[in-house]
Amino acid sequence: MLETVDAGVQSLSRYDASVGAGALARLHELAAPLRGLRVLHVNATPYGGGVAEILRSEVPLLRDLGLVADWKLITGDEAFFRVTKKIHNGLQGAEPALTPEEQEAYLTNSIRNAKLLEESYDIVVVHDPQPLALLHFHGKGQARWAWRCHIDTSEPNPQVWDFLQPFVVGYDAAVFTLGGFVPERLPVPRLEIIPPAIDPESPKNLDLPPEIAQRVLSWIGVEVDKPLVTQVSRFDPWKDPLGVIESYRLVKREVPDLQLALVGSMALDDPEGWDMYRQIQEAATGDPGIHLFTNLTGVSNVEVNAFQRLSDVVIQKSIREGFGLVVSETLWKRTPVVAGDAGGIPLQLRDGAGGFLVHSVEECAERTLWLLRHPEEARELGASGKERVRERFLLTRLIADELRLYASLAGVAQHTDGRAALVGLTGEPRDMVCGMRLDRAKALIADYEAEEFLFCSEPCRRQFLAEPARFLRAVATQG
Ligand code: UDP
Repeated sequence: MLETVDAGVQSLSRYDASVGAGALARLHELAAPLRGLRVLHVNATPYGGGVAEILRSEVPLLRDLGLVADWKLITGDEAFFRVTKKIHNGLQGAEPALTPEEQEAYLTNSIRNAKLLEESYDIVVVHDPQPLALLHFHGKGQARWAWRCHIDTSEPNPQVWDFLQPFVVGYDAAVFTLGGFVPERLPVPRLEIIPPAIDPESPKNLDLPPEIAQRVLSWIGVEVDKPLVTQVSRFDPWKDPLGVIESYRLVKREVPDLQLALVGSMALDDPEGWDMYRQIQEAATGDPGIHLFTNLTGVSNVEVNAFQRLSDVVIQKSIREGFGLVVSETLWKRTPVVAGDAGGIPLQLRDGAGGFLVHSVEECAERTLWLLRHPEEARELGASGKERVRERFLLTRLIADELRLYASLAGVAQHTDGRAALVGLTGEPRDMVCGMRLDRAKALIADYEAEEFLFCSEPCRRQFLAEPARFLRAVATQG
């Protein structure tokens, strides 16, 4: 059997205060015809990284809604996860091609894991490329299969995509975070754009009184009365932790007592983490202002919560990014963010709310310094990001989208009043850049090649018009 993650059940009623009773009632309405539906989510790690974060929160709530939801893991040795990390990097555009031995390691492990999937389900959702080939080697059975890709696959390394693409064949649907992430030659009959979301009630995001947050940080060695900037991320070159250190050094020239916390988790499926960790350690040597923490030394959800709450500025200097849950997590706590203009980050830091988008070490330093020198403006900026998160990036919206997807894949009719979720399925009016469902009367229109396209906002409309072919891939895929 594939290993099952023991996720328990959580009551949705707990979300009343953060998302409102109306949203909860609509979720129950969407779930009613799906009671008893057997849904399996499969990924490669139970902790460390956004996918594990989402599943840890989502699966218990799907159960509370009456679905029979399971979360299982594929397993593999370090060699396998080195290959899958290379595939991950290749899908995000990195150069090195897969050697025949690496391809063989991926296939052998996929076959082994496929044999371990013994139970039957109505819906199987496979997350990211690590377990992608399960369907090919297991066979579809009675289930409908969806591939949920969380990374930016807009310009994959062609050799890596050529290798993986045959394993996408057979999926009933593919789900991406942004319209612009859809790769060329995607052989699936339907495609959905569904952005991820954060759990406002998880230990990482729930309200933490400032005095408790201070005690938590001071206990692990942070000087809470000195200025603090933090990046919370896997130790991954795409998250540019070395760039964060360079940027911190530039700011420190002006703010000598500045501290930098680099908080990183070591995911099971990310063996590169240790290489990066050593590079960071080396770069930080001799500077007592740099604190390096990992989940392996006990820095976990509550500590991350405290860092995101108490830091003067949270940095997320990603070069490539799927979504960057950490940005919404931070904005939810009203802390300003300085972040790389990559992937799903601009979706969260939009219209000048919540923080600044940056494109270089210098710009990152400049914006961070400005926020440190303007605490009142920084507080206001941080607070301005929270509403956007409430509106778009909370878990209940994500679950609503997924329930709608399950229903449509399973052929179950749902009664909805059209307000149940902001994101739409194929055929509904929606913004093809960010995936948001639209009210036709309020949407912005772009005319392109004698067709009308609808958008939630001017930035999405502009993004589409700058590169229409990229976004039209989604339409072409849906036929
Ligand atoms: N995270 C954590 N501890 C760490 C580093 C990261 O709990 O030391 C969490 C972080 O809070 C977020 C997730 O891991 O919930 C990372 O998700 P994101 O989408 O930002 O990036 P990914 O790792 O999926 O690329």
